[in-house]
Amino acid sequence: MPSTLLAPAPDAPAPDATAHPSARSPLPLLDDAFPLRADAPDAVAPRAAALTDTIPTTAAAGARGSDREPRLWRPDRVVVTPDALAEPWGRAMVARAEALGLDVERPRANRVTGLRRADPRAEVRDAKRTLAIVNAPPGRLRLDPIPPSADFRLDLAEGCPAHCHYCYLACSLPGPPVVRTFANLGAILDAATAHVRPDAETSFESSCYTDPLALEHLTGSLAATIAWFGDARRAPAGARLRWTSKFTTPALVAPLLDLPHAGRTRVRASVNAEPVARRFEAGTAPVTRRLAGLAQLAEAGYPVGLTIAPITPVPDWETHYAALLDAAASALPPAADLTVELITHRFTPGSKRVLCGWYPNSALEMDEAARAEKRHKHGGVKYVLRAESMRAVRAWFTRAIAERLPGGRVLYWT
Ligand code: SF4
Repeated sequence: MPSTLLAPAPDAPAPDATAHPSARSPLPLLDDAFPLRADAPDAVAPRAAALTDTIPTTAAAGARGSDREPRLWRPDRVVVTPDALAEPWGRAMVARAEALGLDVERPRANRVTGLRRADPRAEVRDAKRTLAIVNAPPGRLRLDPIPPSADFRLDLAEGCPAHCHYCYLACSLPGPPVVRTFANLGAILDAATAHVRPDAETSFESSCYTDPLALEHLTGSLAATIAWFGDARRAPAGARLRWTSKFTTPALVAPLLDLPHAGRTRVRASVNAEPVARRFEAGTAPVTRRLAGLAQLAEAGYPVGLTIAPITPVPDWETHYAALLDAAASALPPAADLTVELITHRFTPGSKRVLCGWYPNSALEMDEAARAEKRHKHGGVKYVLRAESMRAVRAWFTRAIAERLPGGRVLYWT
């Protein structure tokens, strides 16, 4: 099991801050990429920094060693389709990749090929080392409701370079798990505008099918979207953005701290008990670093949150999850606007089949006989904690959060 997949290959040149996109070619400013709304208010929100200012430098991104920051993801292969290259945002992403010394393939057709392998483990390994810059298809611009997390899904990308053994993306996305980032960001934000209810806040979740912060140094899409939601001249008043990440380290959140977010983006750190994170979250950032970065976002005025997922009752789970809550309480400022989302581990027959193919040596428990079967309205089945376990774990978390994070508002349990 590779455990440091965010690290460059040993013989790959280290990203060079002097060769950064900003040193070579100007990237579009927010004004160029996303025009003002026709009914934009006169009051002008603080202007977003040029996106060139939002990309981590090598120094800021840190390196492996004593601070244990993960290195920036460096794909082995980058492909841009013709449609994506026609988009200003697509060209900006190509500029970022090339400035980091990455070759960018430019096929003639809007297809990314060469991803299939005879060995499923080789296929997932190679796909997760591939970045495809593509346009979001039209279906992605009709936004799906996604209760209880948010009103709608707003995908900036799909796929993730990390290797969590329980990842639900394993059966949510068809084909090899290549990381796709969307170049038609303007159309995506237009879709958000079209879905905002006129009389109520409307929330959009951007981490359903990806970990957006893991890709941010290559895309810039998250910073642009945060700035767009924070700009009253562009985003409708009720629009709210949400995303969660296993990469909210101080280095990776640094470019987001000064963005004009206007409190309209809630950032959550996806966290877990130490044995679960250590054994099953390969290629992610250490939980202590995720909490440290989340604290900096809270200090910068962002509403923040903890996504505790998947809650996995490993041996001595109370002790381990208590340690996690204690670490969060000591890291976060007491006045933080904090929410907590609680998601227990579950799997489907399809996700188990895929994940066991990808990670055959994983010790993650996926025993149907030890679980309760739950059918959803379309007839599919998933395996969740048994009722007695579910009740015990829920009661424990309710009590423990009230004691350790009294300012934390629990949004849902599932
Ligand atoms: Fe999946 Fe999230 Fe892990 Fe990425 S970080 S592999 S999206 S669970």
